Amino acid sequence: MFSNTYDAQKKAPAVMAEPVGILKYPHSLLASTSAPVDRIDSSIRAISQRMLATMLMAPGFGLAANQVGVPKRILTVNPARIMDEPAPGPMVMINPEVRESRGGEWDEEGCLSLPGLYGFVKRPTWAILEYTDLEGEKVEMEAEGYLARCLLHELDHLDGTLFWDRLPASQRNLLKLKFFTRMEWAR
Ligand code: ZN
Repeated sequence: MFSNTYDAQKKAPAVMAEPVGILKYPHSLLASTSAPVDRIDSSIRAISQRMLATMLMAPGFGLAANQVGVPKRILTVNPARIMDEPAPGPMVMINPEVRESRGGEWDEEGCLSLPGLYGFVKRPTWAILEYTDLEGEKVEMEAEGYLARCLLHELDHLDGTLFWDRLPASQRNLLKLKFFTRMEWAR
């Protein structure tokens, strides 16, 4: 599943940061486009560590920086939690981009920013992504199946898109109704 320049043996970053709160819909940052990271400095490393801690604590398959209030193009993913086969530990991806994608399949998705809601979303089944790692190295990664889905879901966040934005309006409206009804109950 991993190939090209991605080194699966590379040590996963040690997670020693405090988790942070995850923004929930309808926070405006979730609908905004995140800005590219132009320099990987100590603040980018710090937020990446906090994202890893937050993703592991949630627990989630992945997380985008705007979900924790930072509108930068950073995402974290935990392949070991997604794949059945042996997979690398938690990863940080800076300025990720889709180089190529193929296929299309419907499968169920949820989102830490839309707790308790699920929908069937059509996405490519295979993708090649390019990103920069925390050491500043350009990495190319091939992903398929649910890992590709999770990565594309997180990439969507960086452009202000939630999974329900990819559903037909009737389904989206039903999920929104469910979401706001629950908020009423929680009051
Ligand atoms: Zn999400």
